[in-house]
Amino acid sequence: MAASLLRRDKRSAAASLKAECCGQDGRGAQLLGELLDSVLSPERAVAEAEVIEWCKCLMAGGESFDDFCKMVRGYDNATLCGLVWTANFVAYRCRTCGISPCMSLCAECFNAGEHTGHDFNMFRSQAGGACDCGDSSVMRDSGFCKRHRSATSSNIPSVPNELMMMSERILPRVILRLIQHLRDGYSEPVSDPATERDLQKTLQQMEPLISLLEDLTKMGGAMRSILTRVLTNHQIYKDLSSGDHCTGEKTYAKKNYEKYLAALKGSGLVSSEERSVTSVLDQMAGASNVTILGATAGTGQMDSSDEEEQDGSQGIGKRKRVKLSNSTKDSSIMDILKHKCFLEEILFWTVKYEFPQKMVTFLLNMLPDQNYKIAFTKTFVQHYAFIMKTLIKSHESDTMSNRIVHISVQLFSNEELARQVTEECQLLEIMVTVLLYMMESCLIKSELQDEENNFHVVVNCGEPLLKNNTYWPLVSDFINILSHQSVAKRFLEDQGLLQMWMNFVSFFQGMNLNKRELNEHVEFESQTYYAAFAAELEACAQPMWGLLTHCKIKETQEYTRTVVRYCLDALQDWFDAINFVDEPAPNQVTFHLPLHRYYAMFLSKAIRCQQLDLDSLLPDQEMLMKMMVHPLQIQASLSEIHSNMWVRNGLQIKGQAMTYVQSHFCNSMIDPDIFLLQICASRLDPDYFVSSVFERFKVVDLLTMASQHQNAALDTEHERSMLEGALTFLVILLSLRIHLGMTDDEILRAEMVAQLCMSDRTHSTLLDLIPENPNPKSGIIPGSYYFETMLSAVADFKAPVFEPGGSMQQGMYTPKADIWNQEFDPIMVILRTVYRRDVQSAMDRYMGFLKQTGKFCGNPWPPYRERAPLNPSYKGLMRILHCKTLHIVLFTLLYKISMDHQNMSEHILCMALYLIELGLDNLPEDTVEEEEMLGEERCSDSWFHGTNIATNLHHIINYVRVRLPETAPEVTRELPASTSSDASSFVQSSNTAQVFSLVAERRRKFQEIINRNSGNAIQTAAVRPKTSKWTAPNTTPQLTTTILEVRESMLSLLIKLHHKLSGKQNSYYPFWLEDSESTSRLDPMQQIHGDGITAVERILIKTAARSRQNKCSIEEICRKVAPPVPPKKSSSADKKALDKEERRQKARERQQKLLAEFASRQKSFMETAMDLESPDSDVAMDIGSSEQQDTETVYDCVICGQSGPSTEERPTGLVVLLQASSVLGHRRRSTEPKKLPTSDEEQIYPEDTCGTVHDVRITDLQQNFKDSSCLQSVSIGWEGGVYVQTCGHTLHIDCHKSYMESLRKDQVLQSFSVDKGEFTCPLCRQFANSVLPCYPEKNEEKSIWSPYSNKNLMTLIKEVEEQQEQLGMFPSITNLSKEMESVMKDIRSTTQKKYIDYGKTPGSPDNDFLFMYSVARLNLELELVHRGGNLCLGGASATTKRSCLNQLLHVLAMHMRLFRIDSAYNPWTRLTRLTQVIDLGICDDEKPEVPLLYRDVSSLLLILVLTMPQELHKEHFTCIVKVLYNLLYTQAIATLSVRFSKEERTAWKNPRKLKTMCNSDKSWEVLLSHIICELSKGNLYRASDTDQVSMLSTSAWSPQSIEYSIQQFCLPFLRTTSLLQHHLFGDDLPSCQRTEEEFGMLASYLGLLPPSLQSSDEVNSSSCLEWPIAALDIISQWCLEVTTSAESHSEQVMSLLVQDPQWSLPCLLQLPENYNTIFQYYHRKACVHCSKVPKDPALCLVCGTFVCLKGQCCKQQSYCECVLHSQNCGAGTGIFLLINASVIIVIRGHRFCLWGSVYLDTHGEEDKDLRRGKPLYLCNERYKVLEHQWVTHTFDHINKRWGPHYNGL
Ligand SMILES: [Zn+2]
Ligand SMILES: [Zn+2]
Ligand SMILES: [Zn+2]
Ligand SMILES: [Zn+2]
Ligand SMILES: [Zn+2]
Ligand SMILES: [Zn+2]
Ligand SMILES: [Zn+2]
Ligand SMILES: [Zn+2]
Repeated sequence: MAASLLRRDKRSAAASLKAECCGQDGRGAQLLGELLDSVLSPERAVAEAEVIEWCKCLMAGGESFDDFCKMVRGYDNATLCGLVWTANFVAYRCRTCGISPCMSLCAECFNAGEHTGHDFNMFRSQAGGACDCGDSSVMRDSGFCKRHRSATSSNIPSVPNELMMMSERILPRVILRLIQHLRDGYSEPVSDPATERDLQKTLQQMEPLISLLEDLTKMGGAMRSILTRVLTNHQIYKDLSSGDHCTGEKTYAKKNYEKYLAALKGSGLVSSEERSVTSVLDQMAGASNVTILGATAGTGQMDSSDEEEQDGSQGIGKRKRVKLSNSTKDSSIMDILKHKCFLEEILFWTVKYEFPQKMVTFLLNMLPDQNYKIAFTKTFVQHYAFIMKTLIKSHESDTMSNRIVHISVQLFSNEELARQVTEECQLLEIMVTVLLYMMESCLIKSELQDEENNFHVVVNCGEPLLKNNTYWPLVSDFINILSHQSVAKRFLEDQGLLQMWMNFVSFFQGMNLNKRELNEHVEFESQTYYAAFAAELEACAQPMWGLLTHCKIKETQEYTRTVVRYCLDALQDWFDAINFVDEPAPNQVTFHLPLHRYYAMFLSKAIRCQQLDLDSLLPDQEMLMKMMVHPLQIQASLSEIHSNMWVRNGLQIKGQAMTYVQSHFCNSMIDPDIFLLQICASRLDPDYFVSSVFERFKVVDLLTMASQHQNAALDTEHERSMLEGALTFLVILLSLRIHLGMTDDEILRAEMVAQLCMSDRTHSTLLDLIPENPNPKSGIIPGSYYFETMLSAVADFKAPVFEPGGSMQQGMYTPKADIWNQEFDPIMVILRTVYRRDVQSAMDRYMGFLKQTGKFCGNPWPPYRERAPLNPSYKGLMRILHCKTLHIVLFTLLYKISMDHQNMSEHILCMALYLIELGLDNLPEDTVEEEEMLGEERCSDSWFHGTNIATNLHHIINYVRVRLPETAPEVTRELPASTSSDASSFVQSSNTAQVFSLVAERRRKFQEIINRNSGNAIQTAAVRPKTSKWTAPNTTPQLTTTILEVRESMLSLLIKLHHKLSGKQNSYYPFWLEDSESTSRLDPMQQIHGDGITAVERILIKTAARSRQNKCSIEEICRKVAPPVPPKKSSSADKKALDKEERRQKARERQQKLLAEFASRQKSFMETAMDLESPDSDVAMDIGSSEQQDTETVYDCVICGQSGPSTEERPTGLVVLLQASSVLGHRRRSTEPKKLPTSDEEQIYPEDTCGTVHDVRITDLQQNFKDSSCLQSVSIGWEGGVYVQTCGHTLHIDCHKSYMESLRKDQVLQSFSVDKGEFTCPLCRQFANSVLPCYPEKNEEKSIWSPYSNKNLMTLIKEVEEQQEQLGMFPSITNLSKEMESVMKDIRSTTQKKYIDYGKTPGSPDNDFLFMYSVARLNLELELVHRGGNLCLGGASATTKRSCLNQLLHVLAMHMRLFRIDSAYNPWTRLTRLTQVIDLGICDDEKPEVPLLYRDVSSLLLILVLTMPQELHKEHFTCIVKVLYNLLYTQAIATLSVRFSKEERTAWKNPRKLKTMCNSDKSWEVLLSHIICELSKGNLYRASDTDQVSMLSTSAWSPQSIEYSIQQFCLPFLRTTSLLQHHLFGDDLPSCQRTEEEFGMLASYLGLLPPSLQSSDEVNSSSCLEWPIAALDIISQWCLEVTTSAESHSEQVMSLLVQDPQWSLPCLLQLPENYNTIFQYYHRKACVHCSKVPKDPALCLVCGTFVCLKGQCCKQQSYCECVLHSQNCGAGTGIFLLINASVIIVIRGHRFCLWGSVYLDTHGEEDKDLRRGKPLYLCNERYKVLEHQWVTHTFDHINKRWGPHYNGL
């Protein structure tokens, strides 16, 4: 039966089968089964077209498949978009609408939704994703697009059973076939390349089948629910999968199933039936501690760790493993898989085949079905461990990671689903177990502290798992699910999980240990630190921040308590494992202390948000002491690294230090460490803490009052900077309030101010630099309203500007003046700087502010700021400021500085004063009592008795016992001969201060605390007979003890320092003695800005204000050092001194000003040299300028420096840049720029560009007329013409040659290619590629001409004709003529051949001739464009200054004169005489000459002028212009007549006035009527009457409009001719006020009008006519040329006769305001050549052509499309917008540069590569700049950073 069905037509077979199946007898089912057995038989290829076809037909049940699809779609009840995309897809994210940060939208849904004003951005998907539109668990409903907002399942009818019946029966078999194919095709091991190929083949074979399934998913909800049922039904799977049901090919199905079981086993998995057996075996082997490694431990590392475990009870990390196996059911997580439905097995195979894209997409496309989503999520979780195991083994882990996250993000972003699987499937346990499992595979023994006795294990950052970040999908999933409150709650409540998690974190504690190299430089700089920082930040810190978000209210106190408890446990374990006692091992540092940081951050949260009592969370003192050690070690190491003590470890150690502090990570690294140290400082004994700090920084030995000392721990060269480091650390510790009481607002503000003070920032840099708030979700989301308001409060916006010749600027934010005044905080700056120079930069900017506002002119000290109030919990921190140890240090430092001891610095003084000031600002509450109590003791002679700084400041130290080398000066001076050890002990016991030994102090305290804390402390102490370097003073026998007389108090030292700083004795005098009324100065905060003197004064004021005793003390000291002087006198003396000071200051300023002026002058020279438009330029650079000189022009050679004229023998030349240009060819008629098309409807046609119009014209001419004549009737070079420009500098040509030679030899890589003749001007560095010889001038001939010479026009015409007869005189061969030839060769080779050879015979001299005068034409026209398109401004526009046109004309003329125009063809004859020209064309076989009326008058002018003998007389020039004007005028009228309508023509043909005119030759009416008559003879107007030409005339012509139109027609000629005259004869261009006056002005300039007429603005164009012979006769002759030839080319007559020489200025395409408009249309547009969507699309901004940048697809002969287009469109210059980057590149010849972007965001910034994805808007100023550079051909000069493109763009 089935066989017969197979033979039938598929559709009818399907129809009848469906009918059978509807019956009750089950016959249909059987029949269908049989048919499917045959169709899906394993003997057939799994997805051959026939099979797919059958499946489709059967499912459609007799309908066509397409109809079936349509019907099913009708029942689509899905409310989700769910569009699945893969990597590189452009999607959107809206923070305003998103609930989950992972939310994303497809472009269609985004654009159809309402997001205006939202905080959204566009992004390019990395791993792929899916559209969340319609999913209210991920985003707010308000953001749904219309389609997915309105869709509700209620209004969709339910699906008729009958429609889906066949699909339901067929699909199980189809999916079974798929699975069987997957089973069959699989083989191990995957890593083998051959097997891998096989697997790929297997996948390929089944692709059509998967596509079919994918198509089904897209049929909507109805089909998806059928698929879901099939995929998740247990019974179907049970019946089909094992192969038991089959009768036919039992063997295949069975074999297949066995393969599946084998694959399961091979993956280290067992099905649940076997589980019981294994676990029993496990128990028997007693291997419970290894179960986490699983039976799968197949890889090398695992074996080794197994071994270690076996070889004894001392195995590493044993304790943890035991703990682990106690608390987890790992084997069930890691090793057991049991499949119960198709979906599960499909996922299994998807994993096995390492996530083939097709399968992933199919699985994801099903997600909109809610039942499927739940089932799939569970399946995914079930396979989670297996997925990660596969990932570790995969050698394509990057791709696989992306695909995994592509799936998991869709599943875990949904809180409800995540919660469900957490509860039902142990998701958290699985994740944490798998994380542990992963990391256990790469553990090594920690070497921290004590290498031998360390039992701690850490991850090995060199392992691929860490180096390649393979763990990230897992960690990212984990972070994702922890973001859900309900899931995080589960985690925080589960103590087992927390314990496991702390174990996991401890794997990173102390990783990547650095050991300081003391002898040799490391051979190999390990880069493992990247992996280490990445691991800590991603795997430890991120989850920590996630958890912290859920511990922010009082109600969650318990969570915090639990975490803190487990943290402390883990830390305790860690200290035990590393065998830590009390001292860190020297010269070691690890930057990774995640356990410390967890502890610190949870504490911070507890105090700040949960009102927990700090002390209840703190451990005992011993533990606190231990905890402070490693973070402190990091701070000391930072200072060591900055002091270059780690240089031998290479650069990478600096990298670590920078990473540790930098703003992206500081929240998770340095800030928690400082906070933890602050806690320790607030609770530990302050003396212990302070002495520990100085000991860690190794500067204890330095802190002696002896002038010399020995430092066993530190080289002298490092002492100062380490001491600075220690003091800076203390200052930071005591003044930082980030976790100690600052509000979120204050933190953000402080961070912002710090970053802005370092440097002006762009908005995006600033966003990037501001650390995320330590309290996530506090509102500081990038770009949030909160951020913006803060920014506008502290900063001013500087709009982006473009500096001419400079670089493109971005919009910048700069601190408001008040910020410098009030908030600039150097401490915050120091904390956040990665580079030391940033601190300097902030101080420089601060100094600039003070100078500018006149607040302070000297070298300011960092301003002192009052700190934010301290949270009461941390009040203890301030005890540090009031401890004897610190005061001893401060006293010693003040003393040393006042005594000029070595290794002291102003910075040290600054910090010491800062600490004193902090102390004064934070006096303990019991101040008064203490002072009174200690009042009597103020003459005490030992170190301080109390701890209050206010008291200790005035305490006088008389003697100090010091140890010092015998060589020290004090030894001989101070030590009495009788002094013996007895004496010293006597002194000690009486009233000498003790030898200052911090170490002894610290040790004592530590012992004390240990004793207090633990019973067996003695034991501990005994263990450590530490041979610490600085506890053995006895080993340095040359030290001797001596007693130093000091007799100072800190106050007296401060006053001494005041004298020292001011450089004057007795400079300090307490103001309150001077003038008791000046209470204003009592406010010390008014004296914030200033130098050291200000600081000392401020402190003294504060001191006096804080205590009466101090005030008296100060008075006393001042009186002692300076007997009371009358205040007035002293102030006048001060004033004198000040005057002197002031004068010196003034002198210095003057000098600086002078220097600055000099610098700016130099700069402006460079700028003027670069900028063509710069109005002022050096006179020396004027070439061929208007000045009438009697002597020869003298040129300076910029190479040899000599000056002299250019001569035939030794010519001088101008440095020039030759470049091919098509700028003029892109001009259009319309003044409105063309719009860039942004839809398929818009198009740009090149038809109306100047280049195309001229091309058409020359082709038309060549069709009908003689070629050589054609080539003299037009100009070329509109496209690919050569533009010549100069910087104006000259050099000897021989000097240039040797210069080029030296460049060629130069080994330095040049950005230009010397071989192509390129160089830079030796003087101004402008890019150049040739030298244009200067023609020796004979000035005397120039000045003699006057427009009213007696010669009449006819005589002049004759003279011109005679001169033309002398043609063909070859110049003598000189150096000059050789150079002129060579530059001509350069000019010719500048452009491509196709732009030179227009003639029909290639290589004919006619081509050359045309090319040469066209070069002149082009340069004239371009100059006109640069002048704005007209000459109204005359000489006022300064472009001429650098013109080299005069020299260029000489060169061209020399070459043109070599050509001989046959006198018979000489147009001059036909212009000035009546001839019989017509016959010439006809008698020959050749085509006729081009009629004069068709010829381009400007071209004729150039031909005539350039072929005339050198030193053309101006009267002859004017004669030529006059003659040509007649022709031009005639052309204007002829053109006009064509534009007339038939009726108008008839009307104008016979004007009434005609007869009565007196001067008929100069009447346009007469001439018009005559021309109409003449041209009518040839029936010329026939065409125009029917043609579209007549359409041009829209309104009736009036005499005024006729005159206007004639003037417009003539103006272009007058303009270029005026320029030509200007350059040839050097006379100044006139100027006029109004554009209407231009015609008259130029006409008289050219001598067409007598000068007397000049002023009148009512100039008639006809009054410029001057006919050599009867006008009507010659016009008749010209018209006759046209009418006779018109027969042969009737269709072109009109277009040839109608010339329109007017073009608007060249411009680039007009761009849309919003970049998105461009991006949306072009980023997915296909290229017309390869019809693919290019990977890097680019757009020509000149013509709008769309090209494949860098694409191989459109490459032609090794030229990529972009380069190719730059040659075709711009003759080598191209301006392209890179669509995907929003950036413009400019191609110039063989080089290119990144120009920048013309689209900026709202903050005035570029967004290169669209990384931020924020809306971008057109910056018109920048676009104008781009256009200007294009039009003026200055890309080469203005843009730097050119590189070769090797035709690969
Ligand atoms: Zn969508
Ligand atoms: Zn939508
Ligand atoms: Zn939105
Ligand atoms: Zn020279
Ligand atoms: Zn130059
Ligand atoms: Zn183009
Ligand atoms: Zn292309
Ligand atoms: Zn292409």
